[in-house]
Amino acid sequence: MNLIFMGPPGAGKGTQADWIINNFGIPHISTGDMFRAAIGQGTALGLKAKEYMDQGLLVPDDVTNGIVKERLQAPDCQKGFLLDGFPRTIPQAEALDEILTALNKPIDHVMNLKVDRSFLLARLTGRRVCRSCGATYHVEFNPPKQQGVCDRCNGELYQRSDDTEEKVGTRLDEYTNKTAPLLEYYAKKGLLRDINGEQDIDVVTADIQTLLRGQA
Ligand code: ADP
Ligand code: AMP
Repeated sequence: MNLIFMGPPGAGKGTQADWIINNFGIPHISTGDMFRAAIGQGTALGLKAKEYMDQGLLVPDDVTNGIVKERLQAPDCQKGFLLDGFPRTIPQAEALDEILTALNKPIDHVMNLKVDRSFLLARLTGRRVCRSCGATYHVEFNPPKQQGVCDRCNGELYQRSDDTEEKVGTRLDEYTNKTAPLLEYYAKKGLLRDINGEQDIDVVTADIQTLLRGQA
């Protein structure tokens, strides 16, 4: 199953990835997670990405396309993949088409989590992420059992440095200007599946299960 998650920052893509990757046995490929890992390791890629991420801006296409091309060739992508946060621009989508054509891996669905901008500031500023396993929580909408501690692995929860009111505005503008045009790009190819991401987390999961049930 070759899947893409679309939707603005805070739409719930990371939250909804769990069931999909467990059910289909495919890797969750989040370019944001890859950049944060590179920053943590202090690599040249991390230093480059940080310049842009700190400002809430998209990392340049050539940098981003390169890491995705390499990642999609890894053996764990044999059964498919779930791309989350990529592509985010038309040139990235065009590069992805080229990569997937060469690998003979056509996209099955582009799942668009639709959430109005008015929901997103509260979702993003209240987000907390586990430092150890990456699980995502929300202080109000999806709180951990014990404040600051991951339910799954007891890891420490932290707030991403770009989940501040100041950065969220720029990130949402980047989405509107550069990423939203991709919806038409994929609709024209007949691949776009809209999902109402404004519902409760388990209702969104159920809608995704309905869409993907019975497919391998
Ligand atoms: P994305 O990966 O699309 O940026 P996340 O999955 O990290 O978004 O979700 C952003 C924040 O919103 C997290 O704190 C998450 O717990 C919360 N969240 C996700 N889905 C919902 C939902 N359906 N209703 C309320 N809060 C949600
Ligand atoms: P995310 O974890 O998806 O919210 O992404 C966090 C940040 O990483 C974004 O604000 C961008 O700076 C950068 N980023 C992640 N994915 C991409 C992408 N496909 N293209 C450009 N920048 C990206």
